[in-house]
Amino acid sequence: MEDERILTGEELEEEKGFDLGLRPQRMEEFLGQKKVKENLQIFIRAARLRQEPLDHILLYGPPGLGKTTLAQIIAKEFDANMRATSGPAIEKSGDLAALLTNLEPRSILFIDEIHRLHPTLEEILYQAMEDYKLDLIIGQGVKARSVKLDLVPFTLVGSSTRIGMLSSPFRDRFGIIQHIGFYDVEDLTRIVQRSARILSIVVDPEGAREVARRSRGTPRVANRLLRRIRDIAEVEERGRVTREVAESCLGRLEVDRWGL
Ligand code: ADP
Repeated sequence: MEDERILTGEELEEEKGFDLGLRPQRMEEFLGQKKVKENLQIFIRAARLRQEPLDHILLYGPPGLGKTTLAQIIAKEFDANMRATSGPAIEKSGDLAALLTNLEPRSILFIDEIHRLHPTLEEILYQAMEDYKLDLIIGQGVKARSVKLDLVPFTLVGSSTRIGMLSSPFRDRFGIIQHIGFYDVEDLTRIVQRSARILSIVVDPEGAREVARRSRGTPRVANRLLRRIRDIAEVEERGRVTREVAESCLGRLEVDRWGL
C-alpha cells in the first residue's frame, strides 16, 4: 500500500501546536480552491434559507490540502456544532450509536479517513444518513434483537484520501461531493505569505514563492517548510526570508528529493 502520509508521527505532533493559529477559520481566509468554496457557500446559504439541515458532504483528495479545515469552516458558516472523529476510531456499532444519539439537532459529524470505517458500520451509517434512524442488532444468536432509534437531523461531513474504497451505496448518500486538488504556486504563495504574517516572519515575495514551489502543491508541507526556514533564518540570516535564504535553507533540508 502506498504511504498516505506526508509527515512522520513526530512531525504531525509538532505541527498540531504550530498549526493552531494558522488554520483558517472562515471561508475568506481559506485560500485557493475557488470552485469548491463557491459550491459550498451556495449549499450552505440554500440550506439556511430553507431552514433545513445541510446535505451530507464528502470531501476527498490527498492529505494536507485542507479537508479538515474546510469541515470546521462549514460548521462555523452554518452556525452548527461539530463533533469530530475518524474512521479507524469507531470500532463497534455501539461507538457509532453513542456518537449519533448524542448529536444536537443540525450539528455536523465530521469523520476523517471515512474510507477506513468498517463495512458493517458503513451500512448502519448510511441508513442513518438517509432517514435519521438508527437500526441496530443488539446481542447475538437467539438473544439477538433489532433496535430502532430516532435520530435528530444532522449533517455528516466525511473526508477521504481514497474515495474508491467507499461502497457505492455509501457514496450515493452524500448529496455534495467535492474534490480537493493540489494547489498551484500562486495560491500556495498566498498561503505562505498569510502564514508568515501570522507568525511574524519577514518574507520577501520571491522567498514566499520559492517555498511555495517546493511544497508539492500542499499547504501542510508549505507551512512545515516555512517553520523550518524560520528556525534557520532567525539563527543565521537575521530573520529575513529572501529567495536566496529560502533556496539555501530548502537545499539544506533536501526538499529536492520530493521532486518538483
Ligand atoms: P487535510 O484534512 O486535507 O489533511 P488540513 O485541513 O489538516 O488537511 O490542512 C493542513 C493544514 O494546512 C491546515 O491546518 C492549514 O493550516 C493549512 N491549510 C490547508 N488548506 C489551506 C488553505 N486553503 N488556506 C490556508 N491554509 C490552509
